[in-house]
Amino acid sequence: MMADERTKRIKSLLSEINQSGVRDRRVLTAIAAVPRESFVRPDLRDQAWENRALPIEEGQTISQPLIVGLMSQALHLSGGERVLEIGTGSGYQAAVLARLAESLVTVERYERLAAAARAQLEDLGYTNVEVVVGDGSKGWEPGAPYDGIIVTAAAPHLPRSLEQQLSRKNGARIVIPIGQAEEQDLIVYERWNDELREFNLGPVRFVPLVGEEGWQEPADGQ
Ligand code: SAM
Repeated sequence: MMADERTKRIKSLLSEINQSGVRDRRVLTAIAAVPRESFVRPDLRDQAWENRALPIEEGQTISQPLIVGLMSQALHLSGGERVLEIGTGSGYQAAVLARLAESLVTVERYERLAAAARAQLEDLGYTNVEVVVGDGSKGWEPGAPYDGIIVTAAAPHLPRSLEQQLSRKNGARIVIPIGQAEEQDLIVYERWNDELREFNLGPVRFVPLVGEEGWQEPADGQ
């Protein structure tokens, strides 16, 4: 794609997600700076700057830029935070968060996706991201506590481990889609005087969080 055409598409996407609710300048700047085409399948690169989720390996998806923007914004990051992401997928959301926080641990259950994301993030020069393989429904204890936790797969409820690994400081936040397999609500939990305040950002649709504190693994053949 010619540089002019790419710039035009980025501008148009930024304006679209801005109008749809992504107002945080730092988030918009981070989205503009991360080359989304580096995280999508080669045959879909032409659609990299469209506001839609796209398929990646293992039957998973790279999230829609608007949702990446809204979820990143909901964490209220100012640059000094330690963040946990569950569901690395392509590594795209991780790259955006790496620009907004001090450090990021991202957990993926598929070894193959984790390896590809790790290589891509290294290639682009991100040094503050650690990609690990595991069941992120249990969080990632070695890196706790976290100032922000973002779950990019749909859970039936807030996993207890995530609540336990969230910092005790006021303002620490978890952003997570919660609901049924077909549709969920994007929920923000904010630590406030030893309680968790809850905000609903509206309906979303994510692939399932499969694990001990998420949904059960589908049986073979399903
Ligand atoms: N953040 C990703 C991106 O920017 O490309 C999109 C993530 S995709 C919608 C959800 C990811 O969560 C999938 O890669 C899936 O394998 C992963 N996942 C599902 N359950 C998980 C679990 N228990 N632990 C870690 N990753 C999980």
